[in-house]
Parts: sequence; C-alpha cells; structure tokens
Amino acid sequence: MILSITANPSVDISYNIENLKIDDVNRVELVNKDAGGKGIHVSYVLNELGEKVINSGFVGGKLGEFIEKRLDERKISHDFIKLDDETRNCIAIIHDNKQTEILEKGPKIGFEKEKEFLDHLEKLSKNIEIINISGSLPKGLDASFYQKIIKFAKENKIFVSLDTSGNTLKEIVKGEIKPDLIKPNETEIKDIIEKEFPENEEEIRKIFEKSPLKDIPYVIISQGKDGAIFKIKNKIYKANVPKVKAINPVGSGDSTLAGALSAIYNKEDDEDFIKKSMTCGLLNVLNEEIAHININDFDKYKEKIEIKELI
Ligand code: ATP
Repeated sequence: MILSITANPSVDISYNIENLKIDDVNRVELVNKDAGGKGIHVSYVLNELGEKVINSGFVGGKLGEFIEKRLDERKISHDFIKLDDETRNCIAIIHDNKQTEILEKGPKIGFEKEKEFLDHLEKLSKNIEIINISGSLPKGLDASFYQKIIKFAKENKIFVSLDTSGNTLKEIVKGEIKPDLIKPNETEIKDIIEKEFPENEEEIRKIFEKSPLKDIPYVIISQGKDGAIFKIKNKIYKANVPKVKAINPVGSGDSTLAGALSAIYNKEDDEDFIKKSMTCGLLNVLNEEIAHININDFDKYKEKIEIKELI
C-alpha cells in the first residue's frame, strides 16, 4: 500500500465566468468543488491505476469533512489528524481565456499537532511500502517536518518520494537525509541547481554526477509538453511525449508522479517506469478534470512515448 501525505489540503473551487467584471457582481453558472492538494491528486491517479492508497495530513472543520467525504465517494482510504481550525479553500476563476487563483494559506499547525502526526506515523505505516509527500507546508511547520517523515521512512526501509518547491525543496535535497525520488518541474529544478536546467547532454550528465542530485536514486525533471529527463540510479534518459491538444494541464505533475510510484510499487523496469509516468502526465492534460486519467487510453499513448538514453 502507498501512503500519500498532503500537509495542507484544500477544497478546490473553480468558477467558470466568461467575462470577469471587477468591482461588480459576477454570477457563476458552472461551479466545481473537489478535494485538492497535491498528495490527494496523486492518490486519485494511483487509485485509477488500481493501486491501494491511503491519504493523510491535517484537516479541520466542515471543509475537512468535505475532503474526507469526497475521498470516501472515490473509495480512497484516509486517516487525517483533525484540527480545530477550518481547512482552506482554494479558488480558481476561469475567465477570458485566463485563470486567476485565490489561495488561502490554511490553518496553522502547532507543535502538538505536528507531534500527534509523527507519533501516528508508525501506526499509519503498517503495510506501507511507499510514502509520498506532496505540496507546500502549512503555517507553523518548516522543512524539518518533511525531514522527520523522510528519516522515519529510511529507518523503516520504506521508499519515500517528495514533491515540493522553493526553499523547502532546496533545504531537504541538500540536507543529509534525502528522499528516494523527486519530481521537480523546470521551475523547481532551478531552485535546486540555482540556474536554468541545461539542454546539452554533457552538461546534464555533469549536473546529475554532482551532489545533491547524484545521491537521489530517482529524479524526474518534468518539462510539460517537452516530456521529461529521468535519472534512474546511474542512467539518464530523455523521454518525449506525442503532441496532443491540451485541455487542462493542471495536475500533470501529480499524475506523472502517481505513474512513477505505481511503477516503483510494481517493480517495473526503467522503460516501463518512464513510459508509465509520462503516459499518466499526458492523459491528465486530455480532459478538464484535475488529476484524472482515462485508463482505457493508457496503452494507446504508452506506446507513443519515445525514450533515448543519454551518454
Ligand atoms: P502541475 O504542477 O500542474 O502538477 P508540473 O509543472 O509539475 O504540473 P509538467 O512538467 O507540466 O508538470 O507536466 C508533467 C508531465 O505531464 C510532462 O512531463 C508530460 O509527460 C505531461 N504533460 C504536461 N503537459 C503536457 C502537454 N501539453 N502535452 C503533453 N504532455 C504533457
């Protein structure tokens, strides 16, 4: 079983408004509300791939109950630490061919709740082979929270993946105890290497041969419609995805990660690992829903993924 941790989940609301009027009333015809947060998105796609997954993190109030209800409806397990404060809303307004987002910060996690989560981790991790940590940290927690989970996973021989950004990602990747897998996109890799990711094969190799990336067995640098660069142990590959009409690319990174974790879980070889990750990312862009793949199209697109091993 796979445990997916979202420390700061949200109720994601999207409003479709043809022309957004500022300083005026906007009436919304099309509203969509769902449980969100990157780790929860990963769990949606893992579930669609047929993997057993359990979600954890922190939820509170009626919005926290809403998240649990949506997971129940999808028959996805969850075991969250309960907060007195309300879980956050994140609002995306789709208007005038643009997307404007309003993101609440969410509740603050105090020392007691952090401890409650970490104490609970042992029980939560019974029968767990992979722990995935996705998304930003809530108020009150710093990178050491994720580091403690990674340390726990290492001590218990559980594979651990981390998908976060900014200083949190940089601090953890450069720290002593590293995750087994990271999936930075092109912006996030810049946070780690402090420059643009190169295109030249020789330079790519140099980056992977140096610490900190050298010490992380699985690194997926996702590049949107241009596919991804994979470092799998001491091999480096470039994967290309076919050209498709993108409907909604949001959640492609989470879908890619779900594919990668499913391949790790099933001990698939490098080729299937790369193809599964890329196919899940690609399938996500083909529909409106975030972190949803049409599994019936899986084989059709999987065979179109091209892989080249770099020197
Ligand atoms: P998000 O933060 O929205 O989850 P991300 O920035 O982490 O996404 P991307 O690099 O945009 O992730 O995309 C991940 C993968 O999804 C890509 O490597 C690719 O396989 C697939 N993908 C994304 N956008 C496209 C696209 N327009 N066409 C085809 N495949 C795509």
